[in-house]
Amino acid sequence: MRRKLAAGNWKMNGIGIDLEQLDRLMELHPNPTVDLMICPPATLIHPMAAKTSEHPIHIGGQDCHTNEKGAHTGDISAVMLDDAGARAVILGHSERRADHGETDAVVASKSVAALEIGLTAVICIGETLEERESGKTLDVVGEQLAGSTPDIANGGNTVIAYEPVWAIGTGKIPTLEQIAEVHNFIRAELEKRFGEDGKAFRVLYGGSVKPSNAAEIFAIDNVDGALVGGASLKADDFSGIITALE
Ligand code: PEP
Repeated sequence: MRRKLAAGNWKMNGIGIDLEQLDRLMELHPNPTVDLMICPPATLIHPMAAKTSEHPIHIGGQDCHTNEKGAHTGDISAVMLDDAGARAVILGHSERRADHGETDAVVASKSVAALEIGLTAVICIGETLEERESGKTLDVVGEQLAGSTPDIANGGNTVIAYEPVWAIGTGKIPTLEQIAEVHNFIRAELEKRFGEDGKAFRVLYGGSVKPSNAAEIFAIDNVDGALVGGASLKADDFSGIITALE
């Protein structure tokens, strides 16, 4: 059975004072029955990891370099994330693909770097509105999934997040049928490539998930949880989503 996962992506939000949101989240969910993850900006990984040493919530990064170290000003490596206490890292988020020109091949190399050090890779894929409207959703998602997921991925070390680009931070979400179609497709592709182990990968939905729409999204087959941006910043909002998943 795949364990459900609620993962929060804080993006470029959060300073020291916001650590109180983590305290509140742990207070609201002392013994969660689903897996929890918060991916704060890199500056908060170490304090968050220290705070959560007695709680099952995992702390993750939002990106890593393909190399372990070297002359890459401003970048962070998987080794550094691991050293700071991270257990996972989001890779290939559409904002990184758009802002930093990350290709599927780059995302796959970053995933290898993360997996080799023992971090869980949360690999993001998803179509733009233009691609959806021109009927290319499954082609795009299939291509990104194949190109971004390395051969060393398996159901235990890698999570796939389906995030339609046009649903991120917009308040718009696909219909439940559209979400089901893509999640079933991703599952089938994973099983084609990884055989029986394809059943073990968790596939999250991401894009404008809130407490008010979470339950109906989580009721869809092959939706194993959510990657949540805006609604993960406040513990009380994120808690509503976690409760819908439990
Ligand atoms: C995200 O950035 O991964 C995301 C899903 O954002 P939001 O929940 O704000 O749409």
